[in-house]
Amino acid sequence: MQTYKFMATCASGMEALVGKELRALGIECQVENGRAIFEGTVGDLAKASLWLRTADRIKIIVKEFMVKNFEQLFDEVYDIAWEDYLPLDANFPVSGKSIKSKLFSVRDCQALTKKAIVKRLMDCYHRYGRLPESGEKYPIEVALLKDKATITLDTTGSSLFKRGYRLNKGGAPLKETMAAALVLLTNWKKENPFVDLTCGSGTICIEAALIGMNYAPGLHRSFLCENWDFIDTNIFEAERQKAKLAIDWDAQLNIMGSDIDPKMIEIAKENAVAAHVTDKIIWKQMRLQDFTTKEENGVIVCNPPYGERLSDKTSVESLYEDMGIVMKPLTSWSKYILTSDLSFETYYGEKATKRRKLYNGALRTDYFQYWGKKK
Ligand code: SAH
Repeated sequence: MQTYKFMATCASGMEALVGKELRALGIECQVENGRAIFEGTVGDLAKASLWLRTADRIKIIVKEFMVKNFEQLFDEVYDIAWEDYLPLDANFPVSGKSIKSKLFSVRDCQALTKKAIVKRLMDCYHRYGRLPESGEKYPIEVALLKDKATITLDTTGSSLFKRGYRLNKGGAPLKETMAAALVLLTNWKKENPFVDLTCGSGTICIEAALIGMNYAPGLHRSFLCENWDFIDTNIFEAERQKAKLAIDWDAQLNIMGSDIDPKMIEIAKENAVAAHVTDKIIWKQMRLQDFTTKEENGVIVCNPPYGERLSDKTSVESLYEDMGIVMKPLTSWSKYILTSDLSFETYYGEKATKRRKLYNGALRTDYFQYWGKKK
């Protein structure tokens, strides 16, 4: 069976999680900065597309080579058997990037790559003049890093964080991939309570429910490569059917999301319906200052306001103080807080067990972790 070399891309800081997820799917991989590399069949691609919770997209690595001048770039790209991937009418935009490389003009690299592919297709399909580009989309990238060129073909289309369930985002939503990462970085076991006290549009709780139900996050969306001639859509369909059967609808989960803003709770409820996890999460309009519990061994994950604007700074600092007052007494609970305010511990009033750097989009944040003592 034909195999390909794939790259699962992700936000910087999440690559180890993507690697762990791939291995859990039975796919060996190698983790690099911002991505995991693996070899596999179209079946593996389908599995990874449906199941990866923390990756952004999956690309086929078409070719990698060292390059110092434009002639060489043209020849190497022309030598790829593009006709195995692209039909005559393929619509193939070429994007590019260049870091620390002799060929630093991204526009020239893109234009030349495009030209070489056009020539290859014309020669193979005996078609001269203009290619129609009226068919399916095949996004190609030429990426140069220290003179090594990597030519990729994006199989995903719209990014994997778009699961299809988030109808409304509210003010400061986390990407679904990031929310899943926050859950996977905790020690939560699905028998134990899970709480988000600043739940906003509900992303973190919804991702926790999907994990608790063994629900493939990509089940209700499609992937660009399913429109391609060389991809057997039956293989994707078969993996989708398997993923449907794998859902544990009866999972007993104890997940609560609360927020001070009643509008956000309405939005979270609608999103949970769209994600098919309605009966797995309890939503509550509540100030986090009012949270109390008699339960033990739970996990709290919060993505509170960050106070990026100076005017909000004092109110956010007092919110963090209140978080300390509410959460510190819950000694058997583990608490995890994501914020860009790197002096969070000062206001919370306790040094974190562990901090982990994560990028929330372009924003540097830290995930402050306070591990509970199990009862
Ligand atoms: N992770 C969320 C976004 C959270 S934004 C998502 O993906 O949508 C921070 C949230 O904290 C906002 O919804 C805000 O209403 C809420 N918040 C602010 N102060 C609060 C308080 N004192 N108690 C509870 N929630 C609060």
